[in-house]
Amino acid sequence: MKLNCEIIKDLIPQCVDEIASDDSVNLVMEHILTCESCRSEYEKQKNYTYNTNDNQVQTLIKIRKKLKRNKNRIIVIIVVMTLLLFLVVYILCFLQAIEKNHFIIMECMLLNL
Ligand SMILES: [Zn+2]
Repeated sequence: MKLNCEIIKDLIPQCVDEIASDDSVNLVMEHILTCESCRSEYEKQKNYTYNTNDNQVQTLIKIRKKLKRNKNRIIVIIVVMTLLLFLVVYILCFLQAIEKNHFIIMECMLLNL
């Protein structure tokens, strides 16, 4: 139970900043229904966020959200580029194999003549 509370308290700031995944938000919401300590921590952080009028904090929160979105995009781009690279290498190997077979066939034909 103590470990769960530690994990939940780690996730609370991300939930409050609305950058946590849906699964994390659900986990936190389910937990704070039954845990007074985590609920008060969640409400404290939530109230702090709503009450703050500091533009710098709001700007930092927006930047953090953008960075998380960009991080996901970069991961997708890297995966796609890697798959394309493997595809190109596979095609090149395939073409090279065809070319080698073609030369072998040509040599056989020349030797038979
Ligand atoms: Zn708890």
